[in-house]
Amino acid sequence: MIEVIRTINLTKIYGKVYAVDDLNLSIKQGEIYGFLGLNGAGKTTTIKMLLGMITPTSGQCYLQGKRIGRGSVGIWNDVGYIVETPYSYPELTIEENLEIVRRLRGVEDRCCVDWIIEKLKLGDYRSKRVKHLSLGNAQRLGIAKAIIHRPKILLLDEPTNGLDPAGIVEVRRLLVDLAQNEGTTVLISSHKLDEISKVATNIGIIHGGRLIKEIDGRQLQNQLKKVLILDGRDKEGMRLVLSQAGYDVSIKDRSLEEESPPLEIYDKDAIDAPEKIAEFLVNAGYPPTLLKVEKEDLEMYFLRMIGENGGDLE
Ligand code: ATP
Repeated sequence: MIEVIRTINLTKIYGKVYAVDDLNLSIKQGEIYGFLGLNGAGKTTTIKMLLGMITPTSGQCYLQGKRIGRGSVGIWNDVGYIVETPYSYPELTIEENLEIVRRLRGVEDRCCVDWIIEKLKLGDYRSKRVKHLSLGNAQRLGIAKAIIHRPKILLLDEPTNGLDPAGIVEVRRLLVDLAQNEGTTVLISSHKLDEISKVATNIGIIHGGRLIKEIDGRQLQNQLKKVLILDGRDKEGMRLVLSQAGYDVSIKDRSLEEESPPLEIYDKDAIDAPEKIAEFLVNAGYPPTLLKVEKEDLEMYFLRMIGENGGDLE
């Protein structure tokens, strides 16, 4: 498959801060690459370098095989983007704003304005001045402007910020449609793994400017750890007999949520056959009051990945 977005050892340093640190991305045509990171991880800085808005300290960026740098003019014709709060002319209507973008982008087919208004469900507001739009509708307009010319590449920095759940679903459907049916390559940044996992074919986690993990979107569920949660009247006693039997028992870290958090076991054989643990505890005189296998949620997985890769979560 054709490589559409590529960064090689991309680095941006501000003073002593490595905003982006030796980043190597390779995104192929038709992929939706979820670029995931906490606040300050380096997502916006990366996207701005891909857009030529800021110059890397070192390393290179390529779009469709062309290196971004001084004089790279034609590259941007095939790119649509949202970075930070999209600017629109506040005194003009949605339709007028989109008409300006259509002309600037050199799109001859005037119907593209109606097409994108319909896609982003902006029909009821098309004649409304932008300064009177809600945050979510202003964001929809930003997305409409990014997509109106049907670019081959979309670089979207947290595009669903401010959107309601219906808007989030619409944007997700639109991106999947563009990627699958038009071969559009999408880089979409977010700090929410559960949201990004619903749309991304590939996910890259960035932390402290470094790419710490890449996951195939279809493999994500398999990566989530399972745990056996158990509780009983005498938790300390349970813990002791289980430890003596060789299980690695810990207390669930939900101190903020629960007064008396249950126990948890990560051993595979306990997770695969919880009934044996139940039997063992009954025979030992500690019948369990709770026994269930849980999968960690996506948020926990995201934080675990950062923690395991040297990230500081404080
Ligand atoms: P968020 O989710 O909060 O938007 P982000 O992942 O987009 O975060 P960046 O905006 O790329 O993160 O910032 C990465 C780091 O670089 C942060 O530590 C930030 O403070 C720093 N940084 C970004 N721009 C500048 C700048 N112009 N001058 C100095 N430091 C900067």
